[in-house]
Amino acid sequence: MAKDKDIEKMEKLTSLLKRRGFVYPSSEIYGGFAGVYDYGPTGVELANNIKREWWRIMVQGRPDIVGLDSGIFMHPKVWEASGHTSGFSDPLVECKKNGKRFRADHLLEEIGVGADEKMSEDELNELFEKHKKDIKCPECPDNEFTPVKKFNLLTESNLGTTSNSGPSYLRGETAQGIYINYKNVLDTTNQKIPFGVAQIGKAFRNEISPRQYLFRTREFEQMEMQFFVRPEDEMKYYDEFKEYRFNALVELGLNKKNLKWAPHENLVFYATKADDIEYKFPFGWGELEGIHARGSYDLTQHQKHSGVSLEYFDQETNDKFIPHVVETSGGVGRLFLALLADAYDEEEVNGEERIVLRLNKNIAPVKVAILPLSKKDELTSEAKTIFNELKDSFVCAYDETQSIGKRYRRQDEIGTPFCITIDFDSLEDKAVTVRERDTMTQDRVAISDLKKYLEEKFS
Ligand code: ATP
Repeated sequence: MAKDKDIEKMEKLTSLLKRRGFVYPSSEIYGGFAGVYDYGPTGVELANNIKREWWRIMVQGRPDIVGLDSGIFMHPKVWEASGHTSGFSDPLVECKKNGKRFRADHLLEEIGVGADEKMSEDELNELFEKHKKDIKCPECPDNEFTPVKKFNLLTESNLGTTSNSGPSYLRGETAQGIYINYKNVLDTTNQKIPFGVAQIGKAFRNEISPRQYLFRTREFEQMEMQFFVRPEDEMKYYDEFKEYRFNALVELGLNKKNLKWAPHENLVFYATKADDIEYKFPFGWGELEGIHARGSYDLTQHQKHSGVSLEYFDQETNDKFIPHVVETSGGVGRLFLALLADAYDEEEVNGEERIVLRLNKNIAPVKVAILPLSKKDELTSEAKTIFNELKDSFVCAYDETQSIGKRYRRQDEIGTPFCITIDFDSLEDKAVTVRERDTMTQDRVAISDLKKYLEEKFS
């Protein structure tokens, strides 16, 4: 259970994220739509920077990994082959009084009983029976529930289907798009095993009770990489990618003390090994990213269901095999939330509270804010010239509204690393004041040196 101050922090953070244009609840003017959030002007910049950094590390930075952008919709047989139509489910119970639906494993966890979504209906029903008197409905004083039933998380649609051909699905994960293109990538690039394919894209899950803000939503974005290896090399690459991904998260700005490894105790039947990287969110530890050794399950299933050989012929060793897969799989929304929770800080400055997002400078939504001290033409025209000179190198904001103190506050609250103030002296000495976000120290910098000065700060 999160402590009071953690709950308070979460409330302050969500309110800041709304107030400063990071995240809006979906369809707010219609009363909202559960499990979906919209990223506002500041949020979309941060989310794009997170994805760009992931791509830089996972694709651009490695000659052995290439990118892909597969369709959200795939042939319905993909989901049969992958096992999602039969086995992609969470355990559901319904409160008999108010009809609301909850995750059975979550209700058990909340009273300290170890449970997870991979347990069978029978196992969970037994636990429910045993702890009946302690389990309460989160939304009413009742404690009568329907029996635990598995609920499939795939989102159905009728795209491209006819009345008698069954549903098509919005993808429940991006990984399947990679498996079904494994052979295409192999045939059209110079990649040889071991190699990986990475992609970023939307995924959809009919989560029983979306909760904890961006942590569990019904529409979200995934950043996934599947690395294809010789069977005997699976564990070697598994260990390598565990380290690679953990370090990448720390480099992005997450505090190591808020990260930990959580090995999967109940492995799915085909998996060789699986570990999650968990983050200490204000509401408790939760999965941020998973590293999974998946054996040859995925390609074997697609080979079986499609009838197309997905075997790899190794010209060096002259043998044939179905590659094994090491997967790294994380969500943009969860990482976005973790980075913001980590960066959120409050301090007292001259008797007033200052809220500041101490984000890694390179992923901050806005890099430089350009602030003329007043709306006088001579200052605003100089400020606009500076904006035009910097805008192609840095994401800049231009703001001439309100007092300079309020404008600094706004920039601190969205994590802008540098504010440039153009004052009346600037017209004489051709220099500006550059204020740094974390220390609030101010430098006087010649306008002609500004670009170089900022480039050094961001390098
Ligand atoms: P959980 O156990 O929390 O439901 P999962 O094990 O089902 O997560 P995976 O299927 O491994 O998650 O998905 C990979 C990543 O996608 C997760 O680590 C997470 O970052 C993200 N993710 C999964 N489900 C959601 C969701 N409903 N909302 C937001 N992000 C999600």
